[in-house]
Amino acid sequence: MAERIKRRSVLAGAGGAIVANALTSAFVTAEDASKVRQRAAIYIPQAPVGRQCSACRLFLPARTSQPAQCLVVEGPVVASGGCVLWEPRVGSLTGGGQP
Ligand code: SF4
Repeated sequence: MAERIKRRSVLAGAGGAIVANALTSAFVTAEDASKVRQRAAIYIPQAPVGRQCSACRLFLPARTSQPAQCLVVEGPVVASGGCVLWEPRVGSLTGGGQP
């Protein structure tokens, strides 16, 4: 009996872990799927001044716990990077041209 309960507990625990992993994977995949791939956005790590991620309204600066991110382009980006989806920050005086 004790063996049966123990086995059931282990299986339930393993099932929970599998479900948790599946949910985590689904979340990460869904988040990545909602963003444009860097290649499709023609992202480059060194864009011309005035067209860089740091001057884009879609840029999320790096924090201690995570690298810089973009709201629409997948993966980490850098402040000096840029892509064809660049949009000026509100109040920015720069603009025009391609990265
Ligand atoms: S849209 Fe392009 S330029 Fe703007 S932050 Fe994202 S990767 Fe950088």
